[in-house]
Amino acid sequence: MSKNLTKRSEDYSKWYNELVVKADLAENSAVRGCMVIKPYGYAIWEKIQAELDRKFKETGHQNAYFPLFVPKSLFEAEEKNAEGFAKECAVVTHYRLKTDPEDASKLIVDPNARLEEELIVRPTSEAIIWNTYKGWIQSYRDLPILVNQWANVVRWEMRTRLFLRTAEFLWQEGHTAHETRAEAIAETEQMNNIYADFVENFMAIPVIKGRKTESERFAGAEDTYCIEALMQDGKALQAGTSHFLGQNFAKAFDVKFTSKEGKLDYVWATSWGVSTRLMGALIMTHSDDNGLVLPPNLAPIQVVIVPIYKGEDQLNQISEVAQELVADLRKKGISVKYDNRDTHRPGAKFAQYELQGVPLRIAIGPKDLEKGTVELARRDTLTKQFVAKNDVVETIESLLKEIQESLYQKAKQFRDEHITEVNTFDEFKEVLEGKGGFISAHWDGTEETEQKIKELTKATIRCIPFDAKEEEGSCVYSGKPSKIRVLFAKAY
Ligand code: AMP
Repeated sequence: MSKNLTKRSEDYSKWYNELVVKADLAENSAVRGCMVIKPYGYAIWEKIQAELDRKFKETGHQNAYFPLFVPKSLFEAEEKNAEGFAKECAVVTHYRLKTDPEDASKLIVDPNARLEEELIVRPTSEAIIWNTYKGWIQSYRDLPILVNQWANVVRWEMRTRLFLRTAEFLWQEGHTAHETRAEAIAETEQMNNIYADFVENFMAIPVIKGRKTESERFAGAEDTYCIEALMQDGKALQAGTSHFLGQNFAKAFDVKFTSKEGKLDYVWATSWGVSTRLMGALIMTHSDDNGLVLPPNLAPIQVVIVPIYKGEDQLNQISEVAQELVADLRKKGISVKYDNRDTHRPGAKFAQYELQGVPLRIAIGPKDLEKGTVELARRDTLTKQFVAKNDVVETIESLLKEIQESLYQKAKQFRDEHITEVNTFDEFKEVLEGKGGFISAHWDGTEETEQKIKELTKATIRCIPFDAKEEEGSCVYSGKPSKIRVLFAKAY
């Protein structure tokens, strides 16, 4: 495996693409905009899934599965949602191919096999799900419905990047139904908080919680909450969204329930999702010029052991020590791999695990056997130490915790240093083109100003932070009065 990645300082975007491929996370496929997620990348995604799934279930949600296709008439039912996604829809029009009469080696779409109604490949599943909920909900006794689905969706994106923006992506989408507005809003908040908690404590990525402006809101939502993260190159990334959908979908699909008081009312809804984009966030928050850096909580392999030996005898002696260590570490729930392949030299193995971000590497050589030690190397700091064999398990346990915490602190310090308050539009542009990051500025609350700033600078309002304090100010662009600062940034 060749190491040499482009340096981040030379070309961040090239570095990212190379890292994804060289660390064996994913690659481009024969389908435009669609990626192949390779086993190592998929193992990380599975860890993301497992922890989120646990959190969803812990808060009363259940998994279900709905069809990939949405009949066009259902898709159209909630107008704003349909309009918002229309430009990105893949549409199935036929159900059969036939041999080309002019060239027997080719297949053509059979014109006699046109579908009566076109099918939309789901870009999101509100329509098919709310059409289904209609049959599930009659009274308040049927509520709440707390359902999540793990699925793939398709949004025909024009400019795609591995993990960050693909035409097909994997995600989870929660779709809940409630009796009251307040209950649905509480759910929207709860899920945004679950995302924030997961991304911070598991992925070691600090996030800002807030709400989207009207123009950045999910099509068909009354309110969109989000978590926003900052990447090393100073660009923001939307890491998750949670939508309060009001009664929009219930009205579009005529989903009513009889309340405790015997009144008929429309059901209140939420939906929320995170996608394989999180993999991009992970890479662009922690990794360095040597490759991926993984927080231990997400690393498919937390510790790798590499033997350094000449001849079979030495290997056998080292293997004995290594296997004992493997067993002890596994007992503690630590995932460990003993790489005794004789097809690769230790140097090549070291390079591979460095590139793949394995948090801790143990090397055991003949000298270690004599001294009863092992060499322990940290991926995040690239530091090494010798540890007595008897202390290894304990040292590793505490180091894994330390690495997890230290990656978060490092990312948080970077993020905090890249939130800049500005009060004039000149300052705004200067910071944006200089150090980048989030710009905290007053905004007059109009879409017109938001649009103008976007046109002039490419920066968008990432969110109106929940913890923003009220203060008297004037809009950084229009000078009109404003009571709150919002966060602008260029974004992925
Ligand atoms: P949305 O349904 O638009 O609120 O998006 C749900 C989640 O999917 C958000 O976390 C988005 O950042 C993410 N997402 C949206 N479009 C894409 C895409 N093309 N590729 C990967 N992730 C996406």
